[in-house]
Amino acid sequence: MSIEYDKAKKFACLFGSPVAHSISPAMHNYSFEKLGIDAKYYAVDVNADGLEDVMKDIRVTDFLGANVTMPLKTEIIKYLDRLDISSQLAGAVNTIVPINGQLVGYTTDGAGFVDSLREIDVDVEGKDILILGAGGAATSVIVELAIDKANSITIAKRFNKTIGDVLEFANRVTTKTNVKTSVIDIEDNNAIKEAILQSHILINATPVGMTSNKTLIDKSFLRKELIVCDLIYEPPMTKLLLDASEVGCRYLNGKYMLLYQGARSFKLWTNNDMPVKEVKAEYFS
Ligand code: NAP
Repeated sequence: MSIEYDKAKKFACLFGSPVAHSISPAMHNYSFEKLGIDAKYYAVDVNADGLEDVMKDIRVTDFLGANVTMPLKTEIIKYLDRLDISSQLAGAVNTIVPINGQLVGYTTDGAGFVDSLREIDVDVEGKDILILGAGGAATSVIVELAIDKANSITIAKRFNKTIGDVLEFANRVTTKTNVKTSVIDIEDNNAIKEAILQSHILINATPVGMTSNKTLIDKSFLRKELIVCDLIYEPPMTKLLLDASEVGCRYLNGKYMLLYQGARSFKLWTNNDMPVKEVKAEYFS
């Protein structure tokens, strides 16, 4: 397959499948227009089989940059010339930037999450953090929390066949950043209770709560000083966040993570700040 685009403009895109529902084209095209940047952003529905062809297309066009989403965040790496430190550690890429003829991979998901915490006046530096899940989103967030100098990161994960990879990942993060990491069993309620007691911030990075009214955390483990985040944005109030609001915690869903990861990509491509206030009012209110 090849990408169809307006050759009179600079060109940016999203690779993944499915992509039809994505808010990224609207948010980036609005920002290009607002700032007078002569570019257009396209959603390109492509899976691993079609990736080689579209990657050839972007090496020969007036290419501004791309986002990469499921299921290609790891698959894309073999087509890139180099990775920034976050992508190296996370083993995933969600942003491609052409720099001096090379394609460079970045991950802005974690930084987008940390940026979103400013919405509730939270800075991760020095904080003890418990994160539930160790998949793609969790990994990017963990890397950024470590780069931004969290005091400690506890990863709660099922002790199944991927536990070895997660232990290796946690070691890699500690070696590169000096931030203490540990891995606990998400199904061990005593370990979870203890970890919450010792944490300033709790983050749900599992899909639990997305399609059901379930939470992995017993409400009695929450206390009002705890900051509770859920990367899920639909529904906006998961059971975990409802419990947190009832206990009186500061809480945040994943909506603004989506906005700020886009703003980070936009800056990498254009060297301009995304007009976040306007984008927020237009697409995230
Ligand atoms: P993923 O790669 O599939 O990882 C999911 C993680 O959750 C895995 O570690 C998995 O455990 C764990 N998990 C799943 N079901 C579980 C259960 N019943 N009990 C315990 N652990 C369970 O998914 P992802 O891409 O990281 O996405 C995770 C969530 O983040 C999704 O809800 C997604 O919508 C959200 N997200 C939000 C944004 C945003 O911009 N706001 C961006 C990306 C993702 P195992 O390792 O044991 O399999």
